[in-house]
Amino acid sequence: LLPIVVANWKMNGSLGLLNNIILNLKAIEELTVVEIVICPPSIFLSQSTQLIQETKTNIKIGAQNCYFLDSGAYTGEISTAMLQQLGIEYVIVGHSERRKLFFESDIDVVKKVLSAQQHGIIPIVCIGESLAEREQQQTFFVLDRQLEMVLAQADFVDPNRLVIAYEPVWAIGTGSVASVEHATQVHSYIKAKVPTGVRILYGGSLKPDNAEKLFRQADISGGLVGGAALQAKDFISICESANRVFL
Ligand code: PEP
Repeated sequence: LLPIVVANWKMNGSLGLLNNIILNLKAIEELTVVEIVICPPSIFLSQSTQLIQETKTNIKIGAQNCYFLDSGAYTGEISTAMLQQLGIEYVIVGHSERRKLFFESDIDVVKKVLSAQQHGIIPIVCIGESLAEREQQQTFFVLDRQLEMVLAQADFVDPNRLVIAYEPVWAIGTGSVASVEHATQVHSYIKAKVPTGVRILYGGSLKPDNAEKLFRQADISGGLVGGAALQAKDFISICESANRVFL
């Protein structure tokens, strides 16, 4: 299974950044054993897929969100059927910002996971506890709850077709990366719950100076990168760390 490094741009970036990052990544691409996925805002998805075709790179494009129905009166939403038409290969589902700011429930998350899989798109399912939950020793309880329906209903015939991202909410955008001890403990817990072969990424303040240490841990198959994915130099450095570890 290929390890993955995913860039989550959130509501950031521009067409200029897209060009810049894809051209810079192309330069290191022959050296990489990791799969690199860029998730720009949906308004840039079409140009992103065109650009990777034109530049003939292996970089994959992912969406940051989707709706679970194919079409209809759902103003502002984008379906997995539409993403499929564009050739999008991944979609981030259940990011903590979506759960918190846009009130996405575990039921919404599982519907999106199933819809993505039905359209041949690999869902990257984000799970993770908040600071308060961690302080109340609720971490494993929260992860169980977030995983329950996904594990019961998703298609694991090919375990490659679903990715989990463990993103402790207290580490997202805060600069406080999880300690190796915490990350290893949680990843091994998740690993024991999911079918063999499902990749589990770490996300939360990954930076060029901490990525390699985390990627070296046994049950970590790559990373989901927010802030550091907006600088070509930093993102490439994280991809290179992954490459050194997984080679
Ligand atoms: C994220 O948004 O998924 C994320 C991990 O952000 P950051 O790297 O900025 O913490």
